[in-house]
Amino acid sequence: MTGTLKAEAGLAARLAVRLEAVRERMAQAARAAGRDPATVRLVAVTKTHPAAWVAAAAQVGQTTFGENRVEEALPKMAVLAGLGTLHWHMIGHIQSRKARDAARAGFALVHSVDSLKLAERLSHAAVEAGRRQPALLECNISGEATKSGFAAWAPAERDALLPIVERIAALPGLEIRGLMTMAPIVAAPDDARPYFQRLRALRDRLMVLVPGPCWAELSMGMTDDFEAAIAEGATLVRVGRAIFGERA
Ligand SMILES: *Cc1c(COP(=O)(O)O)cnc(C)c1O
Repeated sequence: MTGTLKAEAGLAARLAVRLEAVRERMAQAARAAGRDPATVRLVAVTKTHPAAWVAAAAQVGQTTFGENRVEEALPKMAVLAGLGTLHWHMIGHIQSRKARDAARAGFALVHSVDSLKLAERLSHAAVEAGRRQPALLECNISGEATKSGFAAWAPAERDALLPIVERIAALPGLEIRGLMTMAPIVAAPDDARPYFQRLRALRDRLMVLVPGPCWAELSMGMTDDFEAAIAEGATLVRVGRAIFGERA
């Protein structure tokens, strides 16, 4: 399932098979949860893979792609601009000094707003560029030190987040659409469900306490746990290895 694909003539056909398998698993997970499969979208994560692979995936109908580094995303976006309507999502941590580049790049969605400072910088640069940047707030639900995101692992942290979220929601250059998280690596996919459940509960609370943003999106679930995330309400899953194979 996850062997490395070689850039060769059969690439698009092989990607088509893998994409179809992932989409089918997504649909099954949605139906099992009593949800309409159309409410869950697939972000194909292309980090470390060449632009040619993105083009091949686009050829077989995948148009939404995720990258985790601004400096890797920009050249791919430039090379593939001719393909027409690809939707690029930034899913990784954005360093402050890259905020301006990120806001000007035209990402359809930034999943990884993880500090007030970054939110302010993105907003400022987006306003300058004459746009409003759709964005999600990344939350650290597990408390792992290695994870980025707003501290949201316990009730006190989640309460402390409210005034910050209010300030971010008021920024003129950002359009907040929901939350994103990464679950910890766990032994069984279902062990990730409590983290997804907590993100959803936090989102439900923000809907009430910080009205204004629409809060519709929950970006959660990757290759190892996207079905568990869909069971808990994911609207966006970010899948790399199940489509493109292991990364070098
Ligand atoms: C790499 C990455 C993914 C995809 O991970 P896979 O395990 O390859 O599916 C999802 N989200 C983020 C933030 C990533 O950096």
